[in-house]
Amino acid sequence: MIKTIDDHNFNGQKALVRVDFNVPMNHRNEITDGRRILKALPTIDKIKNDGGIPIIVAHLGRPNGMVKPKYSLRPVANYLEDLGYSVVYAHESIGEEAVEAVQKATVGDIVMLENVRYHIQETDNDPDFCKSLASLADVYVNDAFGTAHRAHASTYGVAKLFKDRFCGYLLEKEIEFLGRTLENPTPPVVAIIGGAKISGKINVIEHLFGLCDTILIGGGMMFTFYKAMGYEIGGSILESQHVQLANKILDKAKELGKTILLPTDVVVARSFRNDTEFRTVNADMIDHQDIGMDIGINTQKMFAEIIQSANTVIWNGPMGVFEMKNFAKGTYEIAKAMAKATKKGAITIVGGGDSASAVKQLKFVDKVSHVSTGGGASLEFLEGKTLPGVEALEN
Ligand code: AMP
Repeated sequence: MIKTIDDHNFNGQKALVRVDFNVPMNHRNEITDGRRILKALPTIDKIKNDGGIPIIVAHLGRPNGMVKPKYSLRPVANYLEDLGYSVVYAHESIGEEAVEAVQKATVGDIVMLENVRYHIQETDNDPDFCKSLASLADVYVNDAFGTAHRAHASTYGVAKLFKDRFCGYLLEKEIEFLGRTLENPTPPVVAIIGGAKISGKINVIEHLFGLCDTILIGGGMMFTFYKAMGYEIGGSILESQHVQLANKILDKAKELGKTILLPTDVVVARSFRNDTEFRTVNADMIDHQDIGMDIGINTQKMFAEIIQSANTVIWNGPMGVFEMKNFAKGTYEIAKAMAKATKKGAITIVGGGDSASAVKQLKFVDKVSHVSTGGGASLEFLEGKTLPGVEALEN
């Protein structure tokens, strides 16, 4: 069982809180998008309002165990101060300076530790480093889903050193939707899988066979399936080493009585650019000069109908090159169908990464049940793996 922060009163306690503050910054070290910080505030506020002191542990970028000023979390501390928080900042995540900052803090303050990845021991999950971090606090909270698939010191090793360990609100929601809902989804269950390549999603597809009635395939990976079916795919993206694998997936679906649907029509262009001529062709009519860019209108309608008749919908990966306006329609129509399904009462989940960015860009975030924040972490969840950061919270 995993306890959530609502199961606990933090009064008089120091809580080590692992958050995802890996925010984008410009070359002047200014935060260009603070949404990740804002999203973690309810968890921080709950601890503070209980009368506890949150000690924030986070990473920024990949300093690879070296102190690099451009990866300092100081701007994040400033950002929190600008929001009205009283922050005691430590230039170190362990050792004397961290201890002093924690001692100095009083109820109402937040302690912010410097980038934990300035120490290589963090990514190595070094036991002494875990002990040093753990010595700063009485209880542990993890609210960083984006790093939950990593068995690092601050996400994994340290958690096990605390008797009281909890998930924060963000992690709780991810566990709820990607974990509990998918453990026992209400049928019919439909999955939509897209994105550039099969290779990154093969384990997801295999795991989804056990959960879904229907799998809809779009995105760049559909062309490897077409190749396996003997279709011409022109200059479309192809993983030639995985054509056999595509065949195996199709065979396995048959064997298990599952439905895999591939697009029946495709939007094609002559070059991989937005400002180029494009047209829609039947899937078996792609010319050798064509490049497949998106799913066609008939497929959009067919997929939308199937999505809207489902009770659980899981989506990972855009249907086309959605970064280019002319080829974003397929992805948009899927997002719209997900929104309609949600309105009808279905549980709709968007796995992280590019499909989550697409849903955000298309302004559908509030119209689906859950948009996962973690790219790698949500993929691993969809592969049926137990994430180390989640496992470490089990009591
Ligand atoms: P992934 O990270 O595997 O989910 O892949 C996302 C990427 O797939 C996005 O950058 C899309 O532009 C890309 N993508 C989707 N459809 C196609 C396509 N038909 N050809 C090339 N790339 C595609």
